[in-house]
Amino acid sequence: MFQTRLAATARAVTLVAAAVFSTLAVAPVQAAAPMVKKQAPGFYRMSLGDFEVTALYDGSFDLPVDKLLKQPAARTNTALAKHFQSLPVETSVNAFLVNTGSRLILIDTGTGGYSGPTSGRLLANLRAAGYRPDEVDDIFITHMHGDHMGGLSHEGVAVFPKAIVHAGKADIEHYLSKAEMDAAPAEAKAGFASAMSAFGAYQDSGRLQPVVGDAEIVPGVHSWATPGHTPGHTSYVVESQGAKMIVTGDLIHVAAVQFDDPTVTIAFDSDAPSAEAQRLKVFAQAARDGTLIAAAHLPFPGMGHLVANGSGYAYEPVDYQRGK
Ligand SMILES: [Zn+2]
Repeated sequence: MFQTRLAATARAVTLVAAAVFSTLAVAPVQAAAPMVKKQAPGFYRMSLGDFEVTALYDGSFDLPVDKLLKQPAARTNTALAKHFQSLPVETSVNAFLVNTGSRLILIDTGTGGYSGPTSGRLLANLRAAGYRPDEVDDIFITHMHGDHMGGLSHEGVAVFPKAIVHAGKADIEHYLSKAEMDAAPAEAKAGFASAMSAFGAYQDSGRLQPVVGDAEIVPGVHSWATPGHTPGHTSYVVESQGAKMIVTGDLIHVAAVQFDDPTVTIAFDSDAPSAEAQRLKVFAQAARDGTLIAAAHLPFPGMGHLVANGSGYAYEPVDYQRGK
C-alpha cells in the first residue's frame, strides 16, 4: 500500500514537472530588447607615420567567385571551405581617406549607390568618421570601374565640390572616349557611360588630372602604374616618416583564393596576364619590405601585411587601434 502510494506520488510529481516544463517550452522566449540587425558605422582609423588613415566602408556585394575566378570551380570551393567561407562570397567595397595634415585625400569613392542597396554608404561613413565631402582636397582613382568611381558624382553633379581628381591617363583615354565607347561591344558600353557620368563634372571644370607612371602627385603620395585589371589601373603609395602603405585597387578580389595562389585571375581583368604580373610584383615587394597593403575588396577595413608562404602569402590583417 505504502509502495503504491509512493509510486502514485512519484507519478504525480512527474506529471506536474512535465506540465511545468512543457509550459516553459511553449512560452515565447524573448530578450528584453529586439535584435538590431544593422552593422556599426563602417570606418576604421589608424596612424601611418604623421598621417592619419581612415578606411571607409561603402558596403558589399555577393560574388559567385566559382564562376568569376579563372580556375576550376572545385579548386575555388576547396579554398573557400579552408577559410570557412561559402558561395556567394560577401565582398567588401572599401575606400581610404588619408589626412596628411596639409591635405585630405580620398583614394577611390565606392559605388555611389549604383550597385544596389547593399553598397553606397561611403558618404554616410565619411560623415560618421568626422569629415564632410567639401573638405576633400584630392581624390585618387585606382581605376575606372563603377565600384571605385561611382561615388564621384550623383546624377552628374560632383559630390566633392573642391576636389582635384587624379586617375590613370590610359583609363581616361579609354573610358572617357566616345570613339572607344562606340567601338566597344554592346555589353561594355554601360561601363563607359557610367565613367563619363562620374567624371564629367570634374573634367568640365578642369579638375581631372591624368596620372602617368610612377610619380609623386602630392607630398607623401606617389602613383605606381599597375596596368592589367584596366589599361590605366594605378596603385598609390602613401608614405610618412618611413611608414608606408600601398593602396592596390583591384589587384586582389578574393582573399581566400588569391593570397594562397596569386596566379589566379578573375573575369573582371581586361588583360589577365598583366593583372597577374602586377599582383605578383606588388605582393612580392610588400612582403619583402613589410609594407602595409590596402585593397578595395579585402574584408573591411581591407588593410594588412603579407608574409611570404611558399608560392603564396599569408595575410595578417591590421588590429583594432584605440586612437589617441
Ligand atoms: Zn573593384
